[in-house]
Amino acid sequence: ARFYSSLPLSQTITLPTGQTYEQPVGLFINGEFVKSQQHKTFEVLNPSTEEEICHVYEAREDDVNLAVDAAHKAFHSEWSKCDPAIRGKYLNNLADLMEANKDTLAAIESMDNGKALSMAQGDVGLVINYLRYCAGYADKLYGKLVDTGSNYFNYVKREPIGVCGQIIPWNFPLLMWSWKIGPALAAGNTVVLKTAESTPLSALYAAKLVKEAGIPNGVVNIVSGFGKITGEAISMHPKIKKLAFTGSTATGKHIMKAAADSNLKKVTLELGGKSPNIVFNDADVKKAVQNLIVGIFYNSGEVCCAGSRVFIQEGIYDEVLEEFKKAAEHLKVGDPFEDGVFQGAQTSQQQLSKILSYVESGKTEGATLVAGGERLGNKGYFVKPTIFADVTPKMKIYSEEIFGPFAVVTKFKTADEAIEMANDSEYGLAAGIHTKSLDTATYVANKLEAGTVWVNTYNDFHSNMPFGGFKQSGIGREMGEAAFENYTQWKTVRIAVNDGPQ
Ligand code: NAD
Repeated sequence: ARFYSSLPLSQTITLPTGQTYEQPVGLFINGEFVKSQQHKTFEVLNPSTEEEICHVYEAREDDVNLAVDAAHKAFHSEWSKCDPAIRGKYLNNLADLMEANKDTLAAIESMDNGKALSMAQGDVGLVINYLRYCAGYADKLYGKLVDTGSNYFNYVKREPIGVCGQIIPWNFPLLMWSWKIGPALAAGNTVVLKTAESTPLSALYAAKLVKEAGIPNGVVNIVSGFGKITGEAISMHPKIKKLAFTGSTATGKHIMKAAADSNLKKVTLELGGKSPNIVFNDADVKKAVQNLIVGIFYNSGEVCCAGSRVFIQEGIYDEVLEEFKKAAEHLKVGDPFEDGVFQGAQTSQQQLSKILSYVESGKTEGATLVAGGERLGNKGYFVKPTIFADVTPKMKIYSEEIFGPFAVVTKFKTADEAIEMANDSEYGLAAGIHTKSLDTATYVANKLEAGTVWVNTYNDFHSNMPFGGFKQSGIGREMGEAAFENYTQWKTVRIAVNDGPQ
């Protein structure tokens, strides 16, 4: 981080589309953009050009304390006690503003993360839908009346938890922002959210919309910063009562320990994966290949539930592998703002190096490189869509999460063999099944250890459907009704009934 005491709180930025906009670069605390206490800033890069976009202010522990104080005060105001329909109205206002600003938001996301503009546009659409879903749920979080006989009148009600710390990654910056903030606010909580250090911009722009939507000061606080400083301060903070994290399994474990050691925060984690995508002999080849492509190359492969382990049944193996290779080689990779580009840049030099080191590992361990396997160009973090075949369970590329456009392919004979290999992983986030047989689909879906199973589709999300992991892929669920479980706690009230009027 560099010291820029005079950095203005807003920067005029020209997007690759040619459009100019005002980017807030301060921390968003108590409804205002402010400089960080120590006036430290850090650089934000465009991963497609490796050029600096701007600097943003960096939060440290002192800034996190201010943000938590603001969120604490806001929680104990009307916010947590008002008619929940009011919170729903605010979330709908926010969704409307996102819709009005959708082109700017998508372009910011694409410039900051490197993803193809069409992918970013898709993300913004999901964000708007999800905020509306949460808005609609705000006044439908009912309690229950519990009958234990006529001597008691009992009810259980759902109450918000308090200040929520939320730490998000760089692969879907705005979408993860909405998955965290939507249900927390609907249920009456307040938040302090930390963005990933490589992608802070869309969240700050969205914070400006939070203000315009009229959401009261302190309800949403956004701090840009690094994991070991800002993230750590959030995980350890005694006034934060709930922590939601999306990112790597290693960091998730660390955060859970910090949450336990500080004040036993309630924790939900959305972590890594090495998800199987299984093609059976009777699959529609064209559709299955399309789903393999979307499974692993969507969002440049930077997807926690990416279908990164491809299993193909022996009767159809050669044909599917050939078509998969052709389709991968056909994908347009490059400038995220160019028409028809499917795969943009990886988010950082670090991710690019990680992917390329796994290419070397695959070659050394004896897998067959079928497609890609190298960097594209020498400016921007672009990687050719990569496929390795003849991959065996002992290889590193088979078991470790690579988080890039990198599929490993393995042949199988029977459904039971595919299930056994699919489940042979520390992860359990998602899985895909491609078959025309309902019997095969249900038999396999029932046996897979995965939080989401897609049949004849992949990476296909919906606000109404919960998403989250089995095994080391996470704890808790986001989206769907299940998301509100993470942001409410049950209160039991048991009233002894007297003998009637005295
Ligand atoms: P990470 O898990 O370390 O980072 C995710 C978020 O956690 C960021 O906001 C980061 O600042 C924060 N963080 C990091 N260390 C922290 C700490 N000690 N305390 C609190 N917060 C902390 O991931 P990364 O280093 O950016 O990427 C490494 C790998 O993680 C990737 O290659 C990929 O395999 C995986 N990953 C998974 C997801 C996902 O959606 N599941 C997202 C991003 C990265």
